[in-house]
Amino acid sequence: MMRGYLQIVDRCENCGEPLGSYPAADGPAFFTITNIMLLLIPMIAATWVWFRLSPFVMLVVLSALTSVMTLILLRYVKGAFVGYLWAKDEQDPGA
Ligand SMILES: [Zn+2]
Repeated sequence: MMRGYLQIVDRCENCGEPLGSYPAADGPAFFTITNIMLLLIPMIAATWVWFRLSPFVMLVVLSALTSVMTLILLRYVKGAFVGYLWAKDEQDPGA
């Protein structure tokens, strides 16, 4: 469905649906950030309570972890978002 993180293929290889004409814009990034931030709060609490890391080590570890999680989650959220636009037939009229 997607070649990279930013670009959506113009047409589905299986059914020929014009996926490129669904205006995902900033939606997938917004929902990915929102989900990661909601996960980050319990992660900060858990690492603080269980491991008692210093704040700097926590910053480094959680920054790396959230970066990897964001890159993994973004593709799935983008797929779900375009799927939602497809289900609601929200095509970009200008495309
Ligand atoms: Zn398809």
